[in-house]
Amino acid sequence: MRMYEDTYRHKGLRRKLTDLVKEKGITDQRVLDAINTVPRHFFLDSAFDEVAYEDRAFPIGVEQTISQPYTVAYQTQLLDVKPFEKVLEIGTGSAYQSSILAELRAQVYTVERQKQLFENNKKFAYIKKYPNIKFFYGDGYEGLPTYAPFDKILITAAAPFIPPKLVEQLKPGGKMVLPLGEYTGVQVMTRLTRLKDGSVSEEQFDNFSFVEMKEGKNP
Ligand code: SAH
Repeated sequence: MRMYEDTYRHKGLRRKLTDLVKEKGITDQRVLDAINTVPRHFFLDSAFDEVAYEDRAFPIGVEQTISQPYTVAYQTQLLDVKPFEKVLEIGTGSAYQSSILAELRAQVYTVERQKQLFENNKKFAYIKKYPNIKFFYGDGYEGLPTYAPFDKILITAAAPFIPPKLVEQLKPGGKMVLPLGEYTGVQVMTRLTRLKDGSVSEEQFDNFSFVEMKEGKNP
């Protein structure tokens, strides 16, 4: 069961979470405002109501998790999203990250390989607030060739290698943020920029620990 009531208590906890994420080093005010706006407890079962504003990942079913708020803020800040940019997200999960991107007024295309999670989001009333999110059931390694190219691509699962088809779906000057490495270890947060000549430059940031980016769909 989920509950869709945003009380003063929830708002207060969310403000504290936003302050914490800021203390941990997130400086982009638009990202902090988005964290302070999106009611994270709506994305979790009401059993998690008490803890929804702790800076932790939580289970959302089929062995998947909603990412830690700090991680969501970190990836979003690196992606540097501008209004109306086309952003492809791999790994919809709870759609919390998708909503943060939507708050930044991106045109969000989000792909999930778990049919059950995809179906859950179709029934998720709050998400109707964001007509700028389009949901897809598919394999993120394939991307969305029909909707390419994208200004930005965000992978929210541990990618053992840079998915070549996703690089092809980036605009010249476009950026991709991904946790790069085997899911059994730590992953290095990596930002790729596709240059005008088609080559790619790479920057490396902190280590994180994500669930696995798996091949294929799971019906
Ligand atoms: N962005 C999510 C984080 C979910 S965890 C959130 O805010 O809640 C990572 C998600 O990636 C999981 O839901 C998992 O099922 C999904 N995933 C893993 N491999 C994938 C792939 N190849 N294509 C699409 N989604 C994938």
